Amino acid sequence: MTLPESRPASTVPLCRHREDCRLCQSKNVAVALPLKPSPLADQYVPASLLKQPQPSFPLDLYLCLDCGHAQVLDVIDPEVLFRHYIYESATSSPGLVEHFKKYSEQVLSRVRPPRGSLAVDIGSNDGTLLRFFQKAGLKTLGIDPAQEVAAKATASGIRTIPVFFTSEVGRNLAAEEGPAALVTANNAFAHSDELADMADGVREMLAPDGVFVFEVSYVADLVAGRVFDFIYHEHLCHHSVKPLRTFLSRHGLQLFDVERLPIKGGSLRCFAQKAGGPHPTRPTVTQLMALEADMKLDQLEPYQQLSDTLDGLRSRLLVLLAQARGAGRRIAGYGASATTTTLLHHFELGPYVEFLVDDNAGRQGLFSPGLHLPVLAPEQLYERKVNDVLLMAWRYYQPIVAAHRRFTDAGGRFILPLPELKVLPL
Ligand SMILES: [Zn+2]
Repeated sequence: MTLPESRPASTVPLCRHREDCRLCQSKNVAVALPLKPSPLADQYVPASLLKQPQPSFPLDLYLCLDCGHAQVLDVIDPEVLFRHYIYESATSSPGLVEHFKKYSEQVLSRVRPPRGSLAVDIGSNDGTLLRFFQKAGLKTLGIDPAQEVAAKATASGIRTIPVFFTSEVGRNLAAEEGPAALVTANNAFAHSDELADMADGVREMLAPDGVFVFEVSYVADLVAGRVFDFIYHEHLCHHSVKPLRTFLSRHGLQLFDVERLPIKGGSLRCFAQKAGGPHPTRPTVTQLMALEADMKLDQLEPYQQLSDTLDGLRSRLLVLLAQARGAGRRIAGYGASATTTTLLHHFELGPYVEFLVDDNAGRQGLFSPGLHLPVLAPEQLYERKVNDVLLMAWRYYQPIVAAHRRFTDAGGRFILPLPELKVLPL
C-alpha cells in the first residue's frame, strides 16, 4: 500500500484543545481533575538539545457528563509524539517482553485462531508481541507510525507498516491481506485522538468470527489508587467499561469480556468481536459496570475528591521537603519515566530535587522534560552524598528500597509521596 509522506520533525509541538468527548462527541464535558501544565512527559533530552524550549501544555483530565469517559482534551500533534518515538519494547524493558509472552499465551488460549490465519497488531513497536504469535504459527502484520522502529521490526522478520492506523488503512489491509482472526492494540487505544476512526478500521479488518483484544488503563484504578501521574499527553484516554461498551457498539463492535490487570497502575484487557459474533458476553462486563456505578465514575464527585486528596498530599510533601532543605539535606528523585514528569510538575517539586536517578541505562545522561534535571545512575546517590530520596517511581518502591539498604543504613531517608506520604525507614 502507498505510504503517506511524513512531515519533518518539528521542535515545538503543536497542541490543540478539543471541545468534544472523544468517544461520543458530546460537548457536555467538564474538568474533573485539574492538573498543572506539563511538558511532554516522555521527552527526556540529551545535553545537545538543552537549548531547545520544552514548553508546558494544559493537562487537565476532563469527564464527559453524557457518556462518562475520562480524557485529556489538550491534544499534541501525533506526528510530533509518535513519528520519532524511540521507545522500543524489547530493548527498553525485559519485564515488558515477559508481559507480552504471557499475554500472547493467554490470548491464543482464549481466541484459538486457526494456524496460518492473520494476526495484526496496532502500535506494534518492535514486534515483540507479534514474534510470539509468529512462533505459534500465525501470519503476522504490524502497524506502527514510528518509522525507525517499524523499519527495524520489518528487517528482523516482523513485517511492519509505518502508518497511523485509520479506517482507510483497515479497509485496504482487509482487501490486500484478507480478514484478520486476531487484532491486538496495546496502548494505541489510550494514545489515539481518533478512536472512532480506529474502531471503524478494526471492524473493517476483522473476520466474522475474529477477535479484537486491546489493553487500556482503567480509570477505576486511577481514582482508587491515586495513580494520577499516569495522566500525560501521550495517554489521552482513561477508560471505563460503560462508555467504552457503548462506543464500540456504535461502531459495530461488541465488547464481550474484560479482565483487570495490575500493569501500568491498573489496566483493562478488553475482548470485542463484530456485532453478532459467536462469543457470548461474559458476566465480567456487567460486573465492572456495576463497580463503576458504585464509584460514580461517570460523575465529577470522585475526581474532585481525588483532587482534594492530592492537594493535601502535595502541601504536606512540600513542607517536608522545605524542612529537609532547611536542615541542609540533599534531595534526589528515584525514577525518570513519563509518570515522573506529571508528578514533578503537578506537585511543583522542581526546586527541591537536585537530580534524578534511574536503573535504566538508556535514561542515564539525559535531562528531564522542561525542568532539565539530570538523570544519573543510582550509584550517584552515594557519590553525591544524598540524604533524602524522593520515590518518583512510588508504585515500585519496595524493590528500590530493598536494593538500597546501605543507603538507609547510612542514615538516608526514602520519601514515599503516594498513595500516602511516608518517610522510610519508619
Ligand atoms: Zn462522551
